Formats: sequence, C-alpha cells, structure tokens
Amino acid sequence: MEIEVKSLVEALPKRIQKLGVLAYNLWWTWQPDAQALFYKVEPLLWEQFVHNPVKLLRALSPASLNLLAKDATFLAEYDRVIDAFEAYLGAAAQSKSASATPQTWFSQNYAAAKWANPVAYFSMEYGVFEVLPLYAGGLGVLAGDHLKESSDIGLPLIGVGFIYQYGYFKQRITEDGWQEADYPAYDFNQLPVTLVRKPDGTAVTVSARISGREVTMQAWKAQIGRVPLYLLDTNLPQNSEYDRSLTQRLYVPDPDKRIDQEWLLGVGGVRLLRALSVTPAVWHMNEGHPAFLTIERARELVVAGHTFADACDVVRKNTVFTTHTPVPAGNDAFAFWQIERHLNGIWNDLGITRDEFFALADQQGSYGMTVLALRMAARANGVSKLHGEVANDMWKWMYDAQNLPAGSVIPTGGQPIHYITNGVHCPTWIPRRAKRHYAQYLGDSWLENVDDQAMWQKIHDMPNEELWQLRKHYKRKLATFMLERARAKWATHTVHPVQTIASGIMIEPMHLTIGFARRFPTYKRATLILRDVERLMRIINNARMPVQIIYAGKSHPHDEPGKLLIQQLYRQIKNADSSGRLVFIEDYDTNVARHMVMGVDVWLNTPRRPYEASGTSGMKASLNGAMNFSVLDGWWPEAFDGTNGWKIGRDVYASEAEQDQVDAESLYSTLENEIVPLYYDQDEVGIPNGWLNRAKNAIASCAPMFSTRRMLKQYIQEMYAPLV
Ligand SMILES: *Cc1c(COP(=O)(O)O)cnc(C)c1O
Repeated sequence: MEIEVKSLVEALPKRIQKLGVLAYNLWWTWQPDAQALFYKVEPLLWEQFVHNPVKLLRALSPASLNLLAKDATFLAEYDRVIDAFEAYLGAAAQSKSASATPQTWFSQNYAAAKWANPVAYFSMEYGVFEVLPLYAGGLGVLAGDHLKESSDIGLPLIGVGFIYQYGYFKQRITEDGWQEADYPAYDFNQLPVTLVRKPDGTAVTVSARISGREVTMQAWKAQIGRVPLYLLDTNLPQNSEYDRSLTQRLYVPDPDKRIDQEWLLGVGGVRLLRALSVTPAVWHMNEGHPAFLTIERARELVVAGHTFADACDVVRKNTVFTTHTPVPAGNDAFAFWQIERHLNGIWNDLGITRDEFFALADQQGSYGMTVLALRMAARANGVSKLHGEVANDMWKWMYDAQNLPAGSVIPTGGQPIHYITNGVHCPTWIPRRAKRHYAQYLGDSWLENVDDQAMWQKIHDMPNEELWQLRKHYKRKLATFMLERARAKWATHTVHPVQTIASGIMIEPMHLTIGFARRFPTYKRATLILRDVERLMRIINNARMPVQIIYAGKSHPHDEPGKLLIQQLYRQIKNADSSGRLVFIEDYDTNVARHMVMGVDVWLNTPRRPYEASGTSGMKASLNGAMNFSVLDGWWPEAFDGTNGWKIGRDVYASEAEQDQVDAESLYSTLENEIVPLYYDQDEVGIPNGWLNRAKNAIASCAPMFSTRRMLKQYIQEMYAPLV
C-alpha cells in the first residue's frame, strides 16, 4: 500500500481504518453515500475543507476518532459503504467466489486476453472533483468523466496529466465587477494523491530534454475507482526555479512555457508509462496539447532501428485523437523558431531534416499541435455532430493539399474527422435524493443501464407531484448554498454590502430560476441577454411572474475582453433595477456546478454558432429535469426535439450582427411567450403540470443519449477496439 495511504490508515482506530483507503480512491466522488459518510465524520470541516477527506481525517483528534469508532449509526453506514466499495473494486468477489474480477459491461463484451494492455489517455486538464482543481472548464470535466466511466464500465484505462501547484485559479470579483485571480498553493500531501515510488520507497522520476537541459519529473497518482491517473510534477530540487515553475499553473499564456509544458506532457508521459512497465494498447490524445507523445514514440522506434516513416506508421496504428476547438485561435500553434529553440535537434534523433520535422505539423507556416495530432492518429473525432462537420471544414486543407499520410484510416463517410458526441457521468451529476426517486421508476439497476432509451421512458410514470417535490428540494438547496456562501464572504470583512446582494441573498427559491454558468470567452456571448436591458428588466420584475438569473464562470486571467464581459454583467447585477434577481456566484467549480445544474429550472446557453464544440453543462442540467434554452449549437441540435426544452435563433445568418440581433429577439420573446407563462401555469395546489411534463421529456430524451456510458461505448467500439 502507498506510504500516504498507510500513514492515514494507521492513524485511524482499527474499526474505521478503511476510511483511510476510501479517502484515497476518488470513487467516493460519485457515490453520494460515501460522501455522506465523510460529511457525518465532521460536517463543518467537510464543507470548510471543500470536500477533502484526507485533510478531514488528518484534522481530527484521536478522541473524536475514537468516538466515531463507537458510534453505532455511523458504523452501520461505514460498513455499508465499505462493502459497496470493496465489491466495486472486486476485492469482495475475490474472497467470496472464484471469479476474481467483477463483471462489467466491458468484461462481458470484450475478450480479456486481447485487452491485457490499457488505453493511455493523455489530457492537459482533469476535472474529477473540486478537491483536485486541475481543470479550467469543460475539457477537463469531460476528461474526469471519461476516467470515471472507464472505471464503471470496466475498460482498462490509465490517465496521464499534470498536477499543478496552484491549480487553475480561484476567482474573486471586486465591487466594480473586475475578476481577480488568487493562486493558493496546494500541498499535495493534503490531497487524495500518492507519490509514485519504486519498491525501495524513493520517487519514480523521468526526465525530458528542453533547450539542451534535462528537466526531471516525479508523478503523483490519483486513483479513480479502478482507473489510475498519473500526474507529472517538476517541482523538484534538482530542477532550476524556472523548470520547477513549469507545472505550477494550467494554461499559461507565455508560448515558451506552453511549448515546454506540452513537451513534458507528451515526452514525460510516455517515459513515465515506460518506467511503470505499462505498454498501452491504444494512445488517446484529448485535444492537441499532448501530441508530442507521438514524437517521443517515433523517436523510440527510430532508436530501435526503424526509419522515421516506418516509425510514424507504427505510431499511427494505435493512436487516436479528439479535437475540441472549432475556434481557430483555440488550437495551439507555435512559431517554428520557437519550437526550434526548445526542441533543438530533435529531428536529428528522428533521422530527418529540420524541414521534414516542421512539415509534419505545418499549419500555414506555424507549428500546429492539432495538425501534428491529426497527422499522427489513425482515427480522429470531434465532439458533436455539428462540430464534426465544422472540424472537417476547418482541417480540410490538410487533406486537400497533399495525400493523406500513409497508414491513416479514414473512419466514416470518407471524412477524416468523425464525431462522438460528448456525454456526462450520470452518477456524478445526479444527486443522492434524485437517484433514490429515479431508482423507484427505472428499476434498481438503472445506473447500469443509463444509456437505455426505453428504460428512461419510465420516468413518465413518476407523478408530477413527486417530481415537483424533488425539484423544489433542489431549488431550496441552491438558495441555501448561495446564502451560506454570501454569509461566509460577508463575515470576512472584505466585501461591500452590494456584493452580498449580488451573491444571491434575495433569491426566492420558488420563482422561475435560470442558470448560466461556463467560462467567459467572448464566443459564449454571456451578455447577449443585456442587449435590451429595459425589456430584460420587465421580464425579471414582472410582479406576477418574476424571473431570476444566476450566473457563474471564470474568464481566463489574461482574457481582457472576457473579464470585461463579467464586469458588464456584474454592473447590471448590482443595479437596484435588477431587484436582487440577477446573481453572480463567484469561483465556479464542480461544487457550484452541481448545485446549479440541480437547482435551476432552465439552463441558458447563448454561444455564437458554431463555436461551441459540444457543451456539457446543459446535459448535466437535463438529467435533473432542468430544461435547456439554447442556441442550436454543440450538442443541442442533436437533442432538441421541440418538446424537451427551447431553442434560440436559427441555423444560418448573414452576418454576426444579424446573428446577435435575431438571437436576442428570439431569447426575449421565447421567455415572454413560452417559458415564463408555462412555469407559472400551476394548478390549484401549485403544481406546474405542463412544465413538469416537458421536464420529463428532457430527462427521458437527454439522459441516455448524453451519458458518458453511451459516449464511452462509442469510443470503445469506434476508436479503441478497431486498433487493438
Ligand atoms: C460541466 C462543467 C463545465 C463545462 O461547461 P460547458 O457547458 O461545456 O461550457 C465547465 N466547468 C465546470 C465546473 C463544469 O462542471
């Protein structure tokens, strides 16, 4: 057992020692019963430590631990959770029956002999839970959900990424609406991660060469159910200050640092897996950042005697790539001279010329990570149907300009870029009480069949009254959540009273509540709703049918236009005309996201079509009976059927100005004429039957289609299995 786990386990009374093991397996993050168990250990600390069980258990005195170990109610819960945990991991099966591994969808459908080696999944960011803040937004949360689903479904998969000393950043909004970034340093010894060690206890290290010097990395392991996630870390004494800073922050804007980081992720990641004697069956690059892994693997083959061309063919045969960014600027591309400065001489190791090396990733004169990834992958996919089409258009020049690289497979319909629409991990995004209600109508094993469309139709058997009770519970919970955060913030003496109002203390939980939460790049058009402020004020302040809008989201610290959007929004939120009905929740993270997707009635999304590759937060909302009100971008054109939410605008526009105009008009009029009246059309006991029927349509149509269960099965069937 890892040293960190052992030390925590040994500090606990025998009867509850397995809490220490549980704390280090992030399985608990999608098990509400396990979370409730940690909550019961010490409710206040659990909240104060942002749901960090390692910190929680370390903070308790021996006396309080001993009390817990004698608390019969607690112990009964403990036994139940630990039994479920061990059964999940297969340990229980081992002792009780002959079969060592529990049956999973994957083990039932794929031959173990062929799958002795895992899929290696590389990503710059991972959003598993708020306790591990290694993500900026949707890309990371998707990667986290991919790992959880791999664990659930039984796919052998290993994640590779970075652990960042300062995470992404914590957001603070000044009284004038300006976003400020705080960078608290994380102590990895207080996080549910363990240092990867050799049998003699010393850290496993690997190194990669940058600008002629060796940069050393160690790695931390986060255990996600059955799936390990390895996180590289350069914060070691043998590295220079600069090199130690390379894994301090996610998404640094400095291109020199970016190149170094991406080189370390690709090369360091491959070398770490080699050091751990892992031979991946398939290599999956999540977005272009890890694409250098293909260069390292080609280098290994050249060293072993292959020509570079042969090496590329071998690498391609089991490499897949997912692109996520239809905004050209979002695809990393570097100047050749910059790449040359950092990777000097790599082409010599590959046995090719400088020109040949750059030709491989040439994106109209710069070094494109997406181009490299596309050239080196057998299969590539976008993340929604629409995005697949957009990505094909975007990268067509690569395939038009020259022949496809030898050995690459064109997956479907002659298109080089195929699509697999994103999904969300239902056990993570459906809360405890809702799970109990769903189980009643969908059957006890519903979570094993979350991608079964016929099963979800049974949600219509749930009486409206019951669904309304559930919705009201989560609406209240969201209001309380905002209130408590506002109170805690107020008590710090650092905020102006108007900021307390802006944080949601005037929210009336039973009024129609709209949520808008995501990053703040300009293409998301967060302020589209402010185009006609007077009309918006009339809508929200309608005395008989008031409307509230809750905003959350971070702007990249160097995205000035994004920060200006937050400010513009915040000024309107603070304005007394808004009556405290417009709200901004600071520091959007998975915890805020969970409260919002469960507690709002409508999920608003106004991206400039077609720049939203997929979007996943709206999927989370629909699982819980909140309805999407969205531009027909990303996943929504695949989901919207006229009865499960609402659309904004149309498909085609003559110009961006027209698009803004048409979309804003559509937004206001749909709110006024359809959404608001439907919500307030409540029967004599206050139940909005029309609304709830529509909400059930949303649940039944979106939950199975936009689950990671459906998504991962597609990755296995269409991307991984054909290459194994
Ligand atoms: C789901 C999620 C996202 C992704 O949201 P989009 O709709 O894809 O923009 C971003 N951040 C957090 C914290 C999330 O939970």
